[in-house]
Amino acid sequence: MRVLLVEDDPMIGRSVQQGLRQDGHSVDWVRDGQAAEGALATTEYEMLLLDLGLPGKSGLDVLARLRRSLNTVPVLVITARDAVADRIKGLDAGADDYLVKPFDLDELAARMRAVLRRHAGRASPLIEHGDLQMNPATHELTQNGKPVALSAREFALLQTLLEQPGVPLSRAKLEERLYGWGEEIESNAVEVYIHALRRKLGAERIRNIRGVGYLVPTDR
Ligand code: CA
Repeated sequence: MRVLLVEDDPMIGRSVQQGLRQDGHSVDWVRDGQAAEGALATTEYEMLLLDLGLPGKSGLDVLARLRRSLNTVPVLVITARDAVADRIKGLDAGADDYLVKPFDLDELAARMRAVLRRHAGRASPLIEHGDLQMNPATHELTQNGKPVALSAREFALLQTLLEQPGVPLSRAKLEERLYGWGEEIESNAVEVYIHALRRKLGAERIRNIRGVGYLVPTDR
């Protein structure tokens, strides 16, 4: 998924960006509130990781303004250990959950999945579609109960499509979900991943609507 990370601490920023990228997410990292608002105005994110203690414009200001503009992107705030009042303010300003520094990358990933699940109105941690069952926590996919091996990008692409069955997503939109700023995109990367997914799961699993995009047909 496409994630915006707002964090002024270079060590934390770098390790979160690297960890999430290894997990197959695309992560744009900015270091202050102003840059965060710029990014949010131009790019559609599926998750915002927001440090509250930022230079200049505070994370709380960014969050309050975001929610005033009726942007519903899931937000996880990151706070210092002793900042209980900040955590409360963050939740009241529209954050979905919070993490206290220092935090474990596995816990961050689990909280992101939980927030996303609630956001999508899903009770189960698994994404099920026909004979497919996907576990975002373990990156496992099964078809008719048999494991199917996917690369991190193939998994991310399939998850994006399965979260909105029946909704066509354009190549540009899929690229936006899969790649962050400055990451090199080969011109036919999405087609290559789609091709691989069709080969592994069956050609009818992903439909192409010419000039519109790709979709996973609904079950019914
Ligand atoms: Ca900070």
